[in-house]
Amino acid sequence: MVVEPKVKGFICTTAHPVGCEESVRRQIAYCKEKGQVEGPKKVLVIGASTGYGLGSRIAVTYGYGADTIGVSFEKEAKGKRTATAGWYNTAAFEKLAKEDGYYAKSFNGDGFSKEMKDTVIETIKADWGKVDMLVYSMAAPRRTLSDGTTVSSVLKTVGSEYTNKSIDLRTNEVTEVTVPVATEEEIQNTIKVMGGEDWEDWIHALADAGVLADNFATIAYSYIGPEVTHAIYKDGSIGQAKKHLYDTSVKMTKEFEKIGLKAYVSVNKALVTQSSAAIPIVPLYISLVYKVMKEQGLHEGCIEQMHRLFTDKYIKKEVDEMGRFRLDDWELRDSVQNKITEVWDKITTDSIKECCDIDGYWEDFYQMFGFHYDNVDYTADVEV
Ligand code: NAD
Repeated sequence: MVVEPKVKGFICTTAHPVGCEESVRRQIAYCKEKGQVEGPKKVLVIGASTGYGLGSRIAVTYGYGADTIGVSFEKEAKGKRTATAGWYNTAAFEKLAKEDGYYAKSFNGDGFSKEMKDTVIETIKADWGKVDMLVYSMAAPRRTLSDGTTVSSVLKTVGSEYTNKSIDLRTNEVTEVTVPVATEEEIQNTIKVMGGEDWEDWIHALADAGVLADNFATIAYSYIGPEVTHAIYKDGSIGQAKKHLYDTSVKMTKEFEKIGLKAYVSVNKALVTQSSAAIPIVPLYISLVYKVMKEQGLHEGCIEQMHRLFTDKYIKKEVDEMGRFRLDDWELRDSVQNKITEVWDKITTDSIKECCDIDGYWEDFYQMFGFHYDNVDYTADVEV
């Protein structure tokens, strides 16, 4: 069938299989051109189908020559409904990686569940023996716990409500949003979903099964961002989960000291992904930071960020005073943030095109679902 984008607010409910393959192909081409460095050879990626997790999988495959197992939670096509972008990305990645001679296996299902952990561990035992690295890049709205109850994460503030500019993604109008305060229960649930507990469960499951290689390393992703996003992000409910994620990294490194395990948090740049598009205020900030960073020649997408993380920062073990990788180093440069502070108050619906890279935002958004690639024929019938 002919697949067209159907955008509803911050989500597109269709995805283009050929366009998703093009997206993966371009990310692979970027890494191939850069060449390889010595690094982990057996890498498990949780949340491997889109955004930073997909970028990680591609970066370690082509940057280290690593074999990968990827876990994600995507929907396959059904009747006239296309599969999700992550489903097509994963199919494309497996195909292209195998063509290039790499081992790539993918599992689609709930990464929080014990069943998924068991399945992955069986595969590691059978195919690899041991695993060198786990990248934890899951971004989920909810989690079903082992007792069968489901808890949801929220994007709210802590302490007092917060009002600032945002963008209405249906109309590109600059609006004002007031972000409500999370209850204590909502904060705890957000920590359950997006904090470090499940990451730790994965590491414990791998350790109990005896499949952690010596000097095993694991990396999970976080965000800090500038002042204008703090109330909703760093100091908000999601920020409490990210604090828990960091504390978990410190705890795990201590617990597994004997085998030389290192657990890291990498603080990444704000980018358009399916998860970040859902956060109030953040999309407006992203469109502004895109404009400023592109002007200063500092812009990166997921693949540039992840390639820099794995082939440069990780190899050099270049961490900040808290032991974190800082891929937000360019975003938080004074030259970038001073410009953002200067422009932020001036953004209105009328000036948005001039102040922000709103076209760049939407370009990334459509491309995330496989649309807007100049070399893909969108009038052609495709197999979904
Ligand atoms: P994303 O939405 O692109 O990717 C989320 C991934 O998690 C997908 O592969 C999805 O299939 C998978 N997933 C969701 N629920 C799952 C489940 N139950 N079981 C298995 N897999 C599941 O998101 P992203 O923006 O790439 O986020 C990845 C990480 O990076 C998150 O920790 C996020 O907080 C962090 N991060 C994002 C940004 C940003 O601006 N996007 C910045 C810094 C850090």
